Order: sequence, then structure tokens, then C-alpha cells
Amino acid sequence: MDIKITKTTAPKAKPQKGDKLGFGHIFTDHMFIMNYTEGKGWHDARIEPYANISLAPSAMVFHYGQEMFEGLKAYRGADDSIYLFRPDMNAKRANASNERLCIPEIPEDMFVDAVKALVDIDRDWVPSDEGTSLYIRPFVIATDEFLGVAPSKTYLFIVILSPSGAYYESGLAPVGIWIEDDYVRAVKGGMGFAKTGGNYAASLIAQVKAHDAGYSQVLWLDGVERKYIEEVGAMNIMFKINGKVVTPALNGSILPGITRNSIINVCKAWGYEVEERRVSVDELVEAAKNGTLEEVWGTGTAAVVSPVGKLRYMDDVMTIGDGGIGELTQKLYDELTGIQWGKREDPYGWRVLVK
Ligand SMILES: *Cc1c(COP(=O)(O)O)cnc(C)c1O
Repeated sequence: MDIKITKTTAPKAKPQKGDKLGFGHIFTDHMFIMNYTEGKGWHDARIEPYANISLAPSAMVFHYGQEMFEGLKAYRGADDSIYLFRPDMNAKRANASNERLCIPEIPEDMFVDAVKALVDIDRDWVPSDEGTSLYIRPFVIATDEFLGVAPSKTYLFIVILSPSGAYYESGLAPVGIWIEDDYVRAVKGGMGFAKTGGNYAASLIAQVKAHDAGYSQVLWLDGVERKYIEEVGAMNIMFKINGKVVTPALNGSILPGITRNSIINVCKAWGYEVEERRVSVDELVEAAKNGTLEEVWGTGTAAVVSPVGKLRYMDDVMTIGDGGIGELTQKLYDELTGIQWGKREDPYGWRVLVK
């Protein structure tokens, strides 16, 4: 792919070692943009200074939410190499989302090349403090000036970058999770498996409710019976029950996390039995009561592995183990982050050098 590069003449001050970066507030010097026009395909790939974009108020994305996004990270290794983690999986998933949303396919190599080229140009923005990374946000928006309900004929594919701090500033720490028994996020046949803004818009109200009750995240139940476990806000969920690793199967309403897939592979390689199946909330409450619910953790790009210390479902508040970090949870976190930051062997071939 030919990418036209226009470098900024006014580079911003980059974050320094020790700066508190938080998440999603700071953006780098450049962005990648590419247009789609029906009949012409994807064209005019370019890297430009990060800046506002101009869209008509009638641009379709504002009205009917035809958009897709992805999320991945670049990591700085000890020798200053910059790595991505399984970016081909993001490219594949982007197209699964695109298909569901009637957005034209982006060739996988184009997607990965765009990410690599942009990260390479802004490589000095990849932070180096322990646990930090450069968050990468590719997204597509529908740009036709039209208020009719139909797939747009023009789109923008944009990639922006945001240096982000360690998810756990004072080390891995367990979170409390609210199992939502009223609102639902997605149903089979809907777009739960796609990474798209609409799913998040649907989730905000329960997130506010959970926060108000002192919980950090929502765990969704299935949209029909509200009986089966689906996933957490932006994470998939896993349980260790009686020695086995158990996680909800990908059923169409759950986002197929790349971290989820990676953790399943690692667990299997370590000899654990892994069950991808329906998990009812009643089974969890029962397992918590009889002491077989040994560990609970979430998986997602942001936190990698997030230990869950407490689960609330209606009147039951379940403390997992001793409320601390499970042994397997910690091992999985160490293994995956070790691979991502280039500190451990990568027997799976997941780490990808940017250049
Ligand atoms: C992105 C996302 C995840 C996690 O996916 P990863 O590829 O592991 O980052 C899980 N659930 C939802 C709803 C998501 O949007």
C-alpha cells in the first residue's frame, strides 16, 4: 500500500518517564487516514498530523451509528524494539464487524500495514515505564451526507494513537463486578460480536448504576433469559471452577476477545482443561457457595488479565477465594504481559516487530 506521509512541523511534547498517562487522553503527533468511495474502493492512504476532521452534520455516522472500531497496543521492549500483539487478529475481527455493519472490507494486510506505518512514525511516543504502552485505535465511520437509513457509500478509516499508563498503577489489584439483572447489552442476531459504538451506548446506563453501587464493571447476562453469563463491559470473563477453566462460548452476542483466545491457548498449553460453554449465573452462585469457584478474571487488551475479587448478583455478594489475586490469574498475567513486552519466550509467535 502506498502511504503518502506528511510529517508535523509542530511536534508536541512527548510524555516523559514517570508521567502519569492515564488512558485515552493524550494523542500522538500523527494519524492514518484512508477514504472509501463506492466504485473506487479504499484510496488515498495517508499519514498526516493529528488534527480535527471536518464532516457534514448530515454525515451518516452521527445519525445511525454505522461505525466500527478496534483496539490494540504497541509495547516497548527492553532493547527499544516496538512490538505489536497479534495485529492480524484485529484485522480479521475488524472485517467481521465491518460485515455485520455493511461497511466494506479492509484488506487485512492494509489494516496491519497502516498500524505499523503509523506506530513507526510515532515510535518515540511508545512509553517505557513498567506496564505502559501505546494504545492503538483504528476505526471506520460512514460519511455520506444523507439522512436515509441505508449503508453509506463513502467511509473514512482512521487510526489514532494514545500513550497509556499502566492499567494497575499500584500493581495488579482485584476488582468488584456487578452482575446486571435488568438491562442487557446484546442478543444473538444483534451485533454483540462486533466492536461497534452502539454496543457501548447500550451499556452506559448499567455502568452508571454499577458505579453508583461501588462496583467498577458490569457483567452482562444473556439478553433473552438473563440467566447465562456473557461478558464484562470491555472484557471477556473466565472462571476456575474445581480446577477447570470455564468461559462462556462465543455465541454471537459476545465479543471474541483476542486476549480471551490467547489465554485459552496458554491454559491449554499448561495442561488445564478449558471448557467453552454456557455458564449460568446459578451455577456460579452455587459454586461460590460450595467453595469450588476458585478464581475469576477478566481478559481484554486494556487490563490484559484483571482479577475479580467480588461478584454481586441480586442479594448475593460472592467473595472469590480470599478476595485477592488467584494463583492462576497472576501466572496468566505474568505470562501474557511477559510475551507482550518481550521479556519472555513467545512460543506462539504472537509478538510482531513493528519494523
Ligand atoms: C474489545 C472488547 C473485549 C476484549 O477484546 P480484546 O481483543 O481481548 O481486547 C471484550 N468485550 C468487549 C465488549 C470489547 O469491546
